[in-house]
Amino acid sequence: MDLFEYQGKEYFARFGIPTSPGGIADTVAEAVAQADRAGYPVVVKAQVKVGGRGKAGGVRLANDAAEAARAAEAILGMDIKGHVVRRLWIEHASDIAREYYASFTLDRPAKLHLGMLSASGGVDIEEVAATNPEAIARLHVNPCDGLDHDTARRWVAEAGLDEPAREQAADLLVRLYRCFVEGDCDLAEINPLILTTDGVVRALDAKVTLDENAAFRHPEWAELAGSESEDPREQMAKARGLNYIGLDGTVGIIANGAGLAMSTLDVVNQVGGSAANFLDIGGGANAAVMSAALEVINADPNVRSILVNIFGGITRVDDVANGVIEALSRVEIRSPIVLRLDGTNAEAGRALLAPHLSEQVQAEPTMLAAARRAVALAEGAAR
Ligand code: GDP
Ligand code: MN
Repeated sequence: MDLFEYQGKEYFARFGIPTSPGGIADTVAEAVAQADRAGYPVVVKAQVKVGGRGKAGGVRLANDAAEAARAAEAILGMDIKGHVVRRLWIEHASDIAREYYASFTLDRPAKLHLGMLSASGGVDIEEVAATNPEAIARLHVNPCDGLDHDTARRWVAEAGLDEPAREQAADLLVRLYRCFVEGDCDLAEINPLILTTDGVVRALDAKVTLDENAAFRHPEWAELAGSESEDPREQMAKARGLNYIGLDGTVGIIANGAGLAMSTLDVVNQVGGSAANFLDIGGGANAAVMSAALEVINADPNVRSILVNIFGGITRVDDVANGVIEALSRVEIRSPIVLRLDGTNAEAGRALLAPHLSEQVQAEPTMLAAARRAVALAEGAAR
């Protein structure tokens, strides 16, 4: 789960990582109130879960209330790489002397944590990595050992951070590592990490990705998820415990297993259609799960046909067929359904379904034929 910058900064604050004082605003009036509170000059910042806000015009300085209002006006509703700005973060502006980069992430092949630190921050780190890789000081940290202050000090010197920033930066990095580990982050990134003209080091930006596998030990994360402006279809699916990702096509897809679901998207595309979603119902394709899946797909106004692609491995196709039949009696479906059921007990499953087939519920023996049929139905071209 990605956090907004303001949530990331709140998260940092728990671990004592210094940031600038500020607050959130959803309207121009709130923005001015927050700016008054933070003290001018302020920065008004778009809260979207995508980088490069500065370049896109989503970060503006304001010297007084009128400028803050104009900045908020300009940024609210702005589209940044497909993300519409609904919320602002306003903080007291910093006088920047230097911009650095710092992050912790997991180096999977090395089976270690990886810290990256650079004196050339504020810009795309991918660009630095490509054009000037030696400008990034990499530090592998063994999670069993952790990161101590001495190691952090050596690292800061190696990265070439300016002398007045080093002690504070080392302390901040130890805290950032604690945030990464104890806070169960997949990524904790600060770009830029700044040294101010009066010699203070702090995080000017925050990019935090939480490891959702650790959600069970973080009841406090629930409120973070609540403030996410998610796709309503995805919210609906999440509430039903489904593994769903919304897309913008017209063929609703239900498959068992992530691999099969992805292949189904590919085949729908291959025959000229477009998928409305990814949905993996996993192994237990029973009536409850199938009903939940159909409900979510049914609620998507773009869906014109539904392709159910089930391969019975451990799951038996006759059980799946019974689940489908029961689900169809529970949920009233707007769009025609094409079923492709194969695998263990496929014959028995198809026999069970046969009496239930109609214009609205069709069956095809193969994945390709089923995809063609579903795409044709979506285009209203079915015979
Ligand atoms: P991003 O573009 O989405 O990464 O947003 P950032 O929060 O990193 O801000 C982009 C840039 O805006 C920074 O690199 C700074 O150059 C500038 N910026 C942000 N906050 C301040 C501030 O308090 N003072 C000044 N002078 N510049 C700022
Ligand atoms: Mn940034």
